[in-house]
Amino acid sequence: MRCDHCSRSETTVFVELHHNVGMLFARRSHTTAADLCRACLGKAFWHHTLRNVTLGWWGTISFFVTWYYLLSNIVTYVQARAEMGRSRRRAAPVVQEARGADALRILQPFEHNIRMQLRMGDDPSAIARDMARLHGVEASAAQAYVEQLRAAD
Ligand SMILES: [Zn+2]
Repeated sequence: MRCDHCSRSETTVFVELHHNVGMLFARRSHTTAADLCRACLGKAFWHHTLRNVTLGWWGTISFFVTWYYLLSNIVTYVQARAEMGRSRRRAAPVVQEARGADALRILQPFEHNIRMQLRMGDDPSAIARDMARLHGVEASAAQAYVEQLRAAD
């Protein structure tokens, strides 16, 4: 998603942030409603917070509106940051297990170890499981390789 403020292609979250400007007998609200990246979210949050704190309070209604905006901005900000964290984890690349010839190439250097373990009477499927886990190859490829060595022994 593209950030509405800086146009960078990054993880963005839609947020609405507000600040109040109190003018004793009148008030005005300013709102940011946009898809924002992490950096722009931080900037927008502080932009509105600063103005709420300095310009917000001046008026009876303004006093309460400013409190409401301050709190709702914090909730929005915290939720948006959590949402960004979640989508970043979703975007993390999936580790691909090696299989076929790739798996064989990875496992071959351990041929001697595997033979030793087999000779010591270790369970072939346990050896295969360890190999698969330690070297990031598919379980079935590791199993096949161990079986092949066992048959050849
Ligand atoms: Zn941005």
